[in-house]
Amino acid sequence: MGQTVRLTASFKVSGPVPEGLFSTYQEILTGLLEYAVGKGITSFKRLKAGKYQELREKYLDLPSHYLYTACQMACSVYKSFRKLKRRGLVKTEKPTFKRQVVMLDDHLFSLDPESWEASIATEKGRVGLKLLHGTYHEKFRGMKVGQAWLVKTGDGYYLKVVFSKTVETAEQNGKAIAVDVNENNVAFGSTDSIRNVETRERAIRTAYFLKRRRLQSKLRLNEKPLLAKYRGRERRRLEDIYHKVANEIVAEAIEAGASVVVLESIKNIRKRIRYSKALNGRLNRWGFRRFQSILEYKAKVVGLRVVYVDPRGTSSLCPICGEKLSPNGYRRVRCSKCGLEEDRDTVAVRNLLRRYQMYVGASSVHPESLPMKMREEDLAGYGS
Ligand SMILES: [Zn+2]
Repeated sequence: MGQTVRLTASFKVSGPVPEGLFSTYQEILTGLLEYAVGKGITSFKRLKAGKYQELREKYLDLPSHYLYTACQMACSVYKSFRKLKRRGLVKTEKPTFKRQVVMLDDHLFSLDPESWEASIATEKGRVGLKLLHGTYHEKFRGMKVGQAWLVKTGDGYYLKVVFSKTVETAEQNGKAIAVDVNENNVAFGSTDSIRNVETRERAIRTAYFLKRRRLQSKLRLNEKPLLAKYRGRERRRLEDIYHKVANEIVAEAIEAGASVVVLESIKNIRKRIRYSKALNGRLNRWGFRRFQSILEYKAKVVGLRVVYVDPRGTSSLCPICGEKLSPNGYRRVRCSKCGLEEDRDTVAVRNLLRRYQMYVGASSVHPESLPMKMREEDLAGYGS
């Protein structure tokens, strides 16, 4: 059996970037959003049916697929706005889209994996752009190219591309590795052995947070690029850590002969954000999900399945008898019923494993991993 793995890569590009495309596209997007909001439309089909003809006549030279992708983007922007609005997370009445982003489908762009050149359709025919970044490309060879986004940022133009490929899946053998992600460490393992790797993410985030705050308090006008630079550094440093830890986990899974990696479902993850109010909650969320998606990709590429289970109570209930655990010293817990004394992270891993086993036992259907979709926050770092 095979499964599809997806990877979104961001390449800096050089060449004759169709500069005017950004403002045209934004104009179209703004009009579409207004129309969608006015009529309460969130369906691509209805939006296209309502606006395509008018836009076609107005933008005669623009390849028609730009109108399709703009309809798609307008729908997803409006949908996520409505979701946030319902949760009371946005103050504005209407959604706006200020980022310099143009969405491309397979009619609007193609990629030559040999020369690493992208060809993009414009109002005046196709232009060729060179993708920079050296050897970074190698792992994308042989992968299928999906949709892409052309992004304009403070330091140049980027092409974000979704790659995918189908990989063989290992035979299900009931052996699993569970992963418990915390702010400063990641615990993982099977029932036989559980390891704990320090990531020190909190210390890194705090250091960068303070650095940025010091800069901001000086209130100088030209400080913005410097802030962005620090943010980039922080992100790269954390990414490095995520990759290293994910590699260790995958190696451990292979060594243990596991066929499944068990992760915590993100549905209840917002409760975890309590820990550092001083830091930006969104960044924390980004880190957690980012780590999971790196791990998910690395695991799937080598044929492991990835399963998400509900993490509620995994660090507060006894993995043996199910009783509520009490604190027992620094990061340790104790069960008053069966006497278990254990490290909190070990308990979490054991509970995740247990939950997975119950899940498999309870259903005759193979557990499917969550499909990985392009998420709004994947575009987040590319604001103006
Ligand atoms: Zn117990």
